[in-house]
Amino acid sequence: MPLHDTEAFVLRTFSLKEADKICVFFTREAGKVRGVAHGARKLRSRFGASLEPFTEVTLTYFAKENQELVSISACEILRSQFVAGISSERMGVMQYWAELVDSFLLDHEPNDAAYRLIAASLDALRQAETDNLMPLARYYEICRYFEIWMLKLAGFFPDWRTCGLCEKDLSGEQAVYLTNEGMPQCLNCSGQRGDELRPAVWRTIQEILTQSPAKFLSLTREPGLLNQVGNIATRLIARALEREPRSYEVLSRLRPAL
Ligand SMILES: [Zn+2]
Repeated sequence: MPLHDTEAFVLRTFSLKEADKICVFFTREAGKVRGVAHGARKLRSRFGASLEPFTEVTLTYFAKENQELVSISACEILRSQFVAGISSERMGVMQYWAELVDSFLLDHEPNDAAYRLIAASLDALRQAETDNLMPLARYYEICRYFEIWMLKLAGFFPDWRTCGLCEKDLSGEQAVYLTNEGMPQCLNCSGQRGDELRPAVWRTIQEILTQSPAKFLSLTREPGLLNQVGNIATRLIARALEREPRSYEVLSRLRPAL
């Protein structure tokens, strides 16, 4: 039984029998891993608070060949999201991100870029909340940022810099048109079919793909822009997952009224 030792984020947990929990982790070394934490539901569990959502931990587990569930032997907290209190908005956002990571990334497939995205986004969110930079709209914006990146890292987002047909650079275009598959096209190639994206919306997507989450959160933009980026993300996510995410209602709560 090989022993594994890796940094990981807790994504979610489910009760299993009276004393145990099933935990879903996103590990740096092995991607998504599901395991059993024996005794985790007991009052004085050795797992303590280490299994709260998006706690970053050092995870030690045993994996048996051909078994989906690994056996968790230790889980030490590296960083908790709950140290200095947490708002219900941040909880909602993290729950949504956990579902996206769980839905988009495959078991046992490492994805270091996704690991770094999660770490940087959690840091930016916590820091912005500490600095009081978080009107409701900002939670909504960072969710949209995370969605676009999740789509990209899972391979469901095309290269947006150039026209999908003639490969023309789109940055100088008056309008970009988006096919049902999410492929951007220049005016000529599109024949004006598909969804028209204003240059500002297209640029906002470019900003998401080139800025860190902290930088993205620090800039103020026209409120309607993120709603439009959001509509695109929603459509691409529903298409990729063939359903709407379950924790989607958090986004409707945070969506700014225009
Ligand atoms: Zn073209």
